[in-house]
Amino acid sequence: MNEKVFWFVIGSQTLYGDDVLRTVADRAAEMAEKMSKSLPYPLIYKVTSKSNSEIREIVRQANFDTSCLGIVTWCHTFSPSKMWLDGLRDLQKPWCHLATQYNREIPNEEIDMDFMNLNQAAHGDREHGFMGARLRKPRKIIAGYWQDEDVLRRLAKWQRVCVGVETSRNMKVMRFGDNMREVAVTEGDKVEAQIKLGWQVNTWAVGDLVKEMDKVTEAEIDSLCAGYAAQYDIATDNIRAIRYQAREEIAMKRMMDREGCRAFSNTFQDLYGMEQLPGLASQHLMSQGYGYGGEGDWKVSAMTAIMKSMGQDGNGASAFMEDYTYHLVPGSEYSLGAHMLEVCPSLAAGKPRIETHHLGIGMNEKDPARLVFEGKAGAGVVASLIDMGGRLRLICQDIEAVKPIMPMPNLPVARVMWRALPDLATGVECWITAGGAHHTVLSYDVDAEMLRDWARIMDIEFVHIGADTTPEKLEDELLVKDLIWKLK
Ligand code: MN
Repeated sequence: MNEKVFWFVIGSQTLYGDDVLRTVADRAAEMAEKMSKSLPYPLIYKVTSKSNSEIREIVRQANFDTSCLGIVTWCHTFSPSKMWLDGLRDLQKPWCHLATQYNREIPNEEIDMDFMNLNQAAHGDREHGFMGARLRKPRKIIAGYWQDEDVLRRLAKWQRVCVGVETSRNMKVMRFGDNMREVAVTEGDKVEAQIKLGWQVNTWAVGDLVKEMDKVTEAEIDSLCAGYAAQYDIATDNIRAIRYQAREEIAMKRMMDREGCRAFSNTFQDLYGMEQLPGLASQHLMSQGYGYGGEGDWKVSAMTAIMKSMGQDGNGASAFMEDYTYHLVPGSEYSLGAHMLEVCPSLAAGKPRIETHHLGIGMNEKDPARLVFEGKAGAGVVASLIDMGGRLRLICQDIEAVKPIMPMPNLPVARVMWRALPDLATGVECWITAGGAHHTVLSYDVDAEMLRDWARIMDIEFVHIGADTTPEKLEDELLVKDLIWKLK
C-alpha cells in the first residue's frame, strides 16, 4: 500500500514582511500537526505561498507525488488570487478549501491593525474562493474553527473521499465472463468509465480461472480453511464444498493480484468447468477489500471496492447488495436485500456461519458453501452507478437498516433489512424515477455528502434521495440535469 498523505498549502503574499510570514508558517505547521491527530490520514504543512511560481511549483509536485491524495488550502492572511490561477488550473489532485482562522475569538483588548493584518482569513478566503468559483474547479469548502469536532469530522470524511478518488483512478476490474444475458442495467460504456473514473475493465476466460484453480495445492487450501474456521462458525458437514470455495478464492485472488485488479465480476451463466458458483470465496475476498458484482456487473463491483476503500482503515462496511423483496405491512415497511450467495461479511451483526445449500439457478453441479448472517442495524446508504448514454449517473439513497424483523430460518443466504428514506413507497418511486439498479453498494460508513463530493471530483452526475425528496421534485431535478449534462 502506498503512503497516503494530504498537503496543507497556505496562501499569503510578501507585503507583510518576514515576521508575519514566519508566524503564519509556524502556526500552519502547528495546525497541521494538531489536526492530523484527529484525521485518518496525515495533513502535512508544505509551504506558505507568496507568488505565482511558488504555487505552480507546489501544484506540480502535488500532481506528480503518488502519496499526495489531495491539497488543503487556507489563507491565514490575504493572498491575491491571480497568483493562484495557473496553479489551480493545472491542479489534478482533489482540493479542499479550509476557511478557518488560527484564533477562535476576537481578542477585545489586544486587537489592533497588526492583529487584523495577520488574522484576516475572512478576507483572504473570500479572494481564494472567488478564484475557485471563477475556474469552475471542483473543491470541498469547509468553514469553521479548525479545532472543532465538526470541522475535523468533515475534513476526515473528505480525506476518505480522496482515497476513493485514488482507488477509482487506479481501478482494474477482472471480469470472468460477460454480463448475464439480456440484463440492461448492468451494461455500460467501459471507455466512458475509463475516461471519467479511470477504471480499466477487461475480461478473462473462465477457462483460465479453472486452470489456475487446478494449480492450487491441498496445503494452500488447508491454510485458507484454517482462516475460515478462525473467522466463521462452520455449520455444515460438507467440508469438501468449503475446500472447493477455498480453491476458487485462492485462484481468483492470484489472478487479480497478478494483474493488479481490486474488483471482479462473474456470472452464474458462465461457470464452465467449475462445479460451484463462488459464494464463500467471493464473500471472503470482499472482506479483504476486493469489489464484487454478480451477473457480470462490473460497475457495482468497482464501486464496492471504491466505497470500501473510503471506510475505516481503507476497508469499511460497504458491500455489494441486491434489492430482493418487500415487507409491505403498514407501519412496518421494509426492503429485504440479499444475493444468491455473495454478501460481504463486513455488514454482519454477528459471527457469520458457513452453510451449504442447493442453488437452483445457474450451472452448479454441487451445493455451494456461503456465509449466512444478519446485517447490522444503523444509518447507511445504497448507491447505484448507471449509464445514461453519454454520461454516468450516481444515485445515492439514505437508508435506515434494522435488525431483520423475523428470523427467516429457511432463507439460505445473508440478509439485510432496511427502510429507504423518505419512506418505503416514496423511496421506491424516487429510486425507480432516477433509474437506479437492483444491484447497489450498501454502506454503513460512506454517506451522501461523501458520494456527492466523489461524483463532483470525477465529473459525473449525482442524484441524492433523502428525507426531503419527493418524486415530483426529483422528476424536475432530473429534467434539468438531463439538459445540463447534454450541454456539458
Ligand atoms: Mn444480482
